[in-house]
Amino acid sequence: MEIIRAGKMGFCFGVKKAVETCYEVAQNKEAKKYILGMVVHNKDVVREIEKIGFTTLHEEEILQDRDPLEKGDIVIIRAHGTTSEIIEKLKKKEVQIKDATCIFVDKIKEILVEREALGDEIIFIGDKEHPEVKGIVSFGKKINIFKNIEELKSSSLDKEKIYTVLTQTTLNKEKFLEMKEYLEKYYSNAQIFDRICGATSERQEATRKLSRTCDIVIVIGDLKSSNSKKLLEVALAENPKSYLVQNETELDLTMFSENMKIGITAGASTPEDIIKKIENKIRGNFNV
Ligand code: SF4
Repeated sequence: MEIIRAGKMGFCFGVKKAVETCYEVAQNKEAKKYILGMVVHNKDVVREIEKIGFTTLHEEEILQDRDPLEKGDIVIIRAHGTTSEIIEKLKKKEVQIKDATCIFVDKIKEILVEREALGDEIIFIGDKEHPEVKGIVSFGKKINIFKNIEELKSSSLDKEKIYTVLTQTTLNKEKFLEMKEYLEKYYSNAQIFDRICGATSERQEATRKLSRTCDIVIVIGDLKSSNSKKLLEVALAENPKSYLVQNETELDLTMFSENMKIGITAGASTPEDIIKKIENKIRGNFNV
């Protein structure tokens, strides 16, 4: 049996920074500390952060004024950001906002605001239910959101308007290229900004290569993590024996057998210690 890791996997730059922000803020023993939603899409990481003194706060609690926040409390904004409405509410409550929004997400927000101010209409490619997308589009006025090429084709875009096209950072690169080709063919009035995060495409490409050469692929990540689910999609396209596993307790050893080549990859919100625990569980039960 052999365990092979994908060339690129695990924590990305933005998530690493958000987790580090939590550990820095944890040094403050005076103020009450909160994280807005999951600081990253990984339950185990969130649990660890709660252990060092944070309470998870949900956006609905703030929107419905059911939150426990008091003046001076510290609230960390997660790597994938939040909405303008939440920021306004937090400011009114006079809490200390520690914004751990990734710079790549902030950059998309910045382009959106700039281009709208110039009079462009915005086309946003992404999942409107995803917190990152909800956050970014909340800073705009009228945004056309399309999840896939079918939605884009059935829309009635105006050939006379000027469009700026932006994307969710975790969008699948192939899906994006298909939509880009369509827009370039029919709408020369659309200026397209490819803002897919490099961390995502690098992990997708490394997973694709790995999945071709292994008997089985384990994608380690939270079931709610968009980029982990996309890694699973990429792996499944190459290898039907690809599975998403959250942590070592969920790893079913019956899917392995001796002499297998096991490919391991992990989403950008998966910490190294969960990856190691999974590898160690396999090593502890098989002859690797
Ligand atoms: S996946 Fe990319 S955009 Fe998202 S937090 Fe990580 S580095 Fe930032």
